[in-house]
Amino acid sequence: MDVHLRDRVETLRDRGITPTLAVVRMGQRSDDLSYERTAVKRAESLGVAVRPYALDALAPQSALEATLHTINHDANVHGCLLFRPLPSFIDEAAVCDMLAPEKDVDGITMTSLASVFADGVAGFPPCTAQACLTMLDHYGISVAEKHVVVVGRSLVIGKPVSMMMLKRNASVTICHSRTKNLAALTRMANIVICATGRPRAFGAAYFAPGQTVLDVGINFDTHGKLCGDVDFEAVEPIVAAITPVPGGIGSVTTSVTMEHTVRAAEKSLAAQ
Ligand code: NAP
Repeated sequence: MDVHLRDRVETLRDRGITPTLAVVRMGQRSDDLSYERTAVKRAESLGVAVRPYALDALAPQSALEATLHTINHDANVHGCLLFRPLPSFIDEAAVCDMLAPEKDVDGITMTSLASVFADGVAGFPPCTAQACLTMLDHYGISVAEKHVVVVGRSLVIGKPVSMMMLKRNASVTICHSRTKNLAALTRMANIVICATGRPRAFGAAYFAPGQTVLDVGINFDTHGKLCGDVDFEAVEPIVAAITPVPGGIGSVTTSVTMEHTVRAAEKSLAAQ
């Protein structure tokens, strides 16, 4: 993916456009800072520019809105990544929806999400949901006619990835914290996507031979070690394929963010 992306960036640069991603952060959360560092590194390696906007953790909503207003009106910024969750005193839904859909490279606006749910073309799907499909495509794993069990129903990952799988003719079961007999359901699937935020909560009892497991979770265990939702050591010997944490879906998500930013820049050029 990155090789093709470098070529596309080169083509844009030849035409005087440097694909640029704004990264907006409130406060100094360690996971935000770590993701920002990873994104900057990946962007630099591709020739994508990153413009960081760091706001104080206690900055008022008006300051965040002013930042998004600036980004929306800056023709040299093509995409925007807004770290969430935002502080509780911010109306997150309202702020997300302020972003111009053409710069919404992480699918946070209602316009982008409506496209995911209604097969539209405006905006972009959330990067992590797209990363799940990109990972399966990379390994030649088709979802058509398969049973996909998605554990988690957030708007960031669970719901959009379910709709994207459905669009590709999978039969999808969406599970959540009120689902009964979860292990019986996950064991029946061809593909299991875990996106709950519970460190190593899914052990051997949840899986069966032949399955593909996508572990979306990015968590820290009690020793402060980065881990996924799945107990990798226990599950890897059972299933056909499983994504690791770190280095799995999270890493592809960063590439997808860059691809969306480059695509947004290409679209802006086409619209000139
Ligand atoms: P979230 O908004 O907290 O949603 C978690 C979901 O998991 C909810 O739908 C919840 O069900 C469900 N859940 C919680 N406990 C459960 C249980 N015991 N059994 C079944 N389902 C349960 O979290 P999120 O934003 O979707 O993120 C999920 C994970 O993905 C986190 O670890 C996050 O760090 C990670 N993530 C990774 C990336 C990446 O790039 N790889 C990007 C974004 C997020 P209810 O709806 O019933 O509460």
